[in-house]
Amino acid sequence: MNIEKAIQTRSGSKCELCGSGDELSVYAVPPVEEITADKCVLVCATCKGQIEDHSTVDANHWRCLNDSMWSAEPAVQVMAWRMLNRLRAEGWPQDLLDMLYLDDDTLIWAKADGDGLDDDEVLKYIDSNGAELKAGDNVVLIKDLNVKGAGFTAKRGMAVRNIILSHNDPEHIEGKVNGQHIYILTKYVKKN
Ligand SMILES: [Zn+2]
Repeated sequence: MNIEKAIQTRSGSKCELCGSGDELSVYAVPPVEEITADKCVLVCATCKGQIEDHSTVDANHWRCLNDSMWSAEPAVQVMAWRMLNRLRAEGWPQDLLDMLYLDDDTLIWAKADGDGLDDDEVLKYIDSNGAELKAGDNVVLIKDLNVKGAGFTAKRGMAVRNIILSHNDPEHIEGKVNGQHIYILTKYVKKN
């Protein structure tokens, strides 16, 4: 079954956030390494537009989260958490957030791309030049690195594509080198 079909079935072909049936599309909840149905929500054009463009957010539209935040799907819980956090100055979203329970992994995911967080709550991952690193960036190694346990040296100048930011550890990123998943100190990379 393809991803879109799986999500259509799971959601009953309705927006998983507001229940609308209008212009539905699959939204991959960032950061996404590999797109699977678990990482996606089915959203209508209204929800998607407001998720992607913060300046168009209409708080009243998101009263729908009153229902959808109770979804069993972690991807839906993550989007509910992010939108409620964006809107919490309105008052009622904070009340809903106080009731919304996310398990540890889901909460890490919810916080992972900084959406809905105050700037000082977001961990900053900084490369050797002081540039901020984001999930999915490509970087280059600035020195030879001995990869512990893997028995090879990752050479200076080697590219690491599509990096992952290590959870709650702003000194490390993760990525594939020679087909192996390795951890790299952010101070030894340069954003490409
Ligand atoms: Zn919607």
